[in-house]
Amino acid sequence: MKARVLITGAAGFLGSHLCDKFFNEGFDVIAMDNLITGDLRNLAHLNGKENFTFLHHDVTNFTHVSGRLDHILHFASPASPIDYLRIPIQTLKVGSIGIHRLLGLAKDKGARITIASTSEVYGDPEVHPQTEEYWGSVNPVGPRGVYDEAKRFQEAITTAYHTYHGIETRIARIFNTYGPRMRLNDGRALPAFIGQSLRGENITVFGDGSQTRSFCYVDDLIEGIYKLHFSEETRPVNLGNPVEITILDFAKEVLKLTGANVKIVHKDLPTDDPKKRRPDITRAKDVLNWSPTIDRAEGLKRTFEYFRTLSKEDLHKNEHKDFAAYIKK
Ligand code: UDP
Repeated sequence: MKARVLITGAAGFLGSHLCDKFFNEGFDVIAMDNLITGDLRNLAHLNGKENFTFLHHDVTNFTHVSGRLDHILHFASPASPIDYLRIPIQTLKVGSIGIHRLLGLAKDKGARITIASTSEVYGDPEVHPQTEEYWGSVNPVGPRGVYDEAKRFQEAITTAYHTYHGIETRIARIFNTYGPRMRLNDGRALPAFIGQSLRGENITVFGDGSQTRSFCYVDDLIEGIYKLHFSEETRPVNLGNPVEITILDFAKEVLKLTGANVKIVHKDLPTDDPKKRRPDITRAKDVLNWSPTIDRAEGLKRTFEYFRTLSKEDLHKNEHKDFAAYIKK
């Protein structure tokens, strides 16, 4: 019998790519999602296949899978600053109650579990680039607090289950990642810039755009997560692309790629927006023999191709009427 894997957040951006990876590697995939931010279209190509099952379930409720279960990947969570504002309680619950349920399930089944943690555990970092040893600078009561603290708690409880119950745990600290199946209107920088270009709207750079990020193409990240899951490394591992760019330069790159006849305009910087972010991936290189292989030019090209195929309706969907509230006036 094939090994069985449960992937939560399966209809989301990273979750759906993980489903593809495990399915293509020959696993029996159980995909779980409550669909508050996920989209079943991301899994449409797997629907109906043998060895693929979708369960519409909220992991913060009692969660059970009958029969054998060998692997769990917990990738359910809202993951954009606008989502945290819109659904803060769910964001907190999935990173606390949700992971507690899954750790219980992992213990019951003897399954190995990998959790999606985040560079947000470092907050607005005072150490640059960020190594796994850095403990972070997080504002628990700021707009990002619901996400950052849930993810920090998630790491703590996962580590406790490992040390106290001896279950097999892996912690991926994921830095900014992009690629096909990101939500066009989730407020993140890249979909925002591409969406604006396609609609003929001006590109909105928050602040003066001197804040930096380091963007990893999704295929590279998925490979890193897969390697981590099957490694023996139980400490957190940074996964991301260490090539850093300012948001203003990133916006210019996207504008050049899309060829849109629009301008770059500036809006106020959101509260607690980290000033810089770049992963130190020494541990991933040493322990997993992993580093990204797809550069931004190639990754952006592939991502733009995907967004171009979306319908007019998708392009104009206003998911976040309270978007303006996110920007400090
Ligand atoms: N950003 C921007 N314009 C937008 C959306 C985002 O300038 O329309 C900025 C945002 O303030 C941040 C960076 O782009 O400095 C990355 O934002 P994103 O939400 O993609 O990721 P995160 O802040 O979580 O790294």
